[in-house]
Amino acid sequence: MRVVVDLARCQGYGQCVFLAPEVFSMDGEEALFYDLGPDEAQRTKVLRAAAACPVQALQVEGKDVEPGRASHDEAREDRAADRGSDRVFLRSGRVVVVGASLAGLRGAEMLRAEGFEGSLTVIGDEPYEPYDRPPLSKQVLAGRIPADGTALPRLRDIAATWRLGTAATGLDMMAKRVLLADGQEVPFDRLLIATGVRARPWPDEDEAALEGVISVRTRDDGARLRELVAAGPRRVLIIGAGFAGSEAASVCRSLGLPVTVVEAGDAPLVGALGSVVGRIAAGLQREHGVDLRCGVTVTSLDGDPAGRLRRAHLSDGSVLDVDVAVAALGGIRNVEWLRGSGLAAGVWGVACDAGCRAFDVNGLVTDDVFVAGDVARAPHPLFGYEFLALEHWGNAVAEAEIAAHNMVHAETGRWPHLAVPEFWSSQFGVNIKSVGVPSLADEVVVTQGSVESRRFVAAYGFQGRIIGAVSFDHALWLDFYKDLIEEAAPFPPAFPMVGGDGMRATPAGFPAPSVPTHDATVVVTGHEPSERRAAYVRQRRDASPTPLRAFRQAQPRKPG
Ligand SMILES: Cc1cc2nc3c(=O)[nH]c(=O)nc-3n(C[C@H](O)[C@H](O)[C@H](O)COP(=O)(O)OP(=O)(O)OC[C@H]3O[C@@H](n4cnc5c(N)ncnc54)[C@H](O)[C@@H]3O)c2cc1C
Repeated sequence: MRVVVDLARCQGYGQCVFLAPEVFSMDGEEALFYDLGPDEAQRTKVLRAAAACPVQALQVEGKDVEPGRASHDEAREDRAADRGSDRVFLRSGRVVVVGASLAGLRGAEMLRAEGFEGSLTVIGDEPYEPYDRPPLSKQVLAGRIPADGTALPRLRDIAATWRLGTAATGLDMMAKRVLLADGQEVPFDRLLIATGVRARPWPDEDEAALEGVISVRTRDDGARLRELVAAGPRRVLIIGAGFAGSEAASVCRSLGLPVTVVEAGDAPLVGALGSVVGRIAAGLQREHGVDLRCGVTVTSLDGDPAGRLRRAHLSDGSVLDVDVAVAALGGIRNVEWLRGSGLAAGVWGVACDAGCRAFDVNGLVTDDVFVAGDVARAPHPLFGYEFLALEHWGNAVAEAEIAAHNMVHAETGRWPHLAVPEFWSSQFGVNIKSVGVPSLADEVVVTQGSVESRRFVAAYGFQGRIIGAVSFDHALWLDFYKDLIEEAAPFPPAFPMVGGDGMRATPAGFPAPSVPTHDATVVVTGHEPSERRAAYVRQRRDASPTPLRAFRQAQPRKPG
């Protein structure tokens, strides 16, 4: 059987651990570890655990689970109200989904839940059916579950044609066709783009090809990295202390391996949480025996004649004997296949409206092309309508459901994507969760708990209002902060702070954009200089620009 837990929703009540201890366990006080593919014999216990979960965070294949975040009743009502608007499409339309992962699968399932009966084709460049990525740097690396045990549960039958192991290489918006690497073309009436992110590779190609140099994004990466650490390397080098790098460091230390983490910024997690909270994470790493080096970069990697990694050279002049180097350098949006399509696709992903409808290069919203998940970039009313680019599990699910819903509804029945961003990570036995957009903040203050005991909540402020919060083993409180973010409550918070070791609001310490550090998992992209690429495409009287020409005209100019 297959199980997945929405860990953004999980608040660590532990009912599942109590009811199905063979499947669920706690790592520290709050972080949940679980088996995504437990034995069928566990079904009754797992179903009991799913029923007992106070926040309904467990999704179990075969149990007719309602779509994650969207209200099904609402869906039914809306459907009844406006289905008449596009009956033909609902019955016999053609939907193509590009990207066969979390957003692609959940979007396809939602389409069927919404009553779409037409043809559904899911195209994915990986040879595998959709699987879950968060366990790759957690349970899989720890050896608790195999990499091929991460398949996502199917919440309903989607009756799709799967084109796995085949990349989409182009999109012809005029002809409404997706072009495939094998030369075939797939026609569509409506398209869902869910091509996500890939790992940013180690920049030197020869060094990146050394055995032992690896990223952690795909199922194959997860399987290979597990093999490498299980072989007992002399030392594991982690390059980049974002969430993925820090989680890998945590697991390697729990396996008893010597670990060096090299981070260009001045603390782990600094890009996502700023240096004040980053310094707390640094303490956590060092307490667990990580050789953490901040403000330092890896300048080169050396191999032996057999092409195996042997050494790493650092910018502080030191040389490390290492057999494994995990390049945890952030992600690159998979948008290259959209070049020339006329869509507004760039370094931060494909721009879309709050209903997940893609924009073209002129900023016009398209009717039939939708975007969801890590590759999407959408404006958020709570954050000044800035475009947010998120690499969050819960966001991929929510956007996929909203995109699918809006695909089959006329204007009055459409849903906006208004959810407050949420992210979780578990490392060194601590459950770290965030809500809102901490990386937008100018100030931070610890509002509850104690930094010393590593159990606290910190609130983030931007121009006098609360815009984010992070908890270390205090997840229960985050809903309260979510409400404050939605209300645009004042910062520093107006309520008396409990604990917080007497800390006052202080600059949050986010690095300047020019400092090369790991990416935050939620980025406000409206002011990003490289995004100032949108150029007005002058409409000629005699002919309007073709999408291809518009795209070329809007390319950024080379500097100098
Ligand atoms: C190691 C790791 C740990 C993580 N941990 C957490 C966590 O703790 N908490 C959290 O909130 N999030 C976490 N995430 C992020 C979360 O997994 C992502 O937000 C989620 O996977 C996004 O889903 P997606 O479907 O949008 O994109 P992806 O999962 O990136 O899937 C996109 C798919 O599209 C495919 N594709 C790309 N280009 C093409 C093409 N041209 N043609 C066909 N197919 C294509 C890709 O190969 C991929 O299969 C983690 C991610 C990783 C890698």
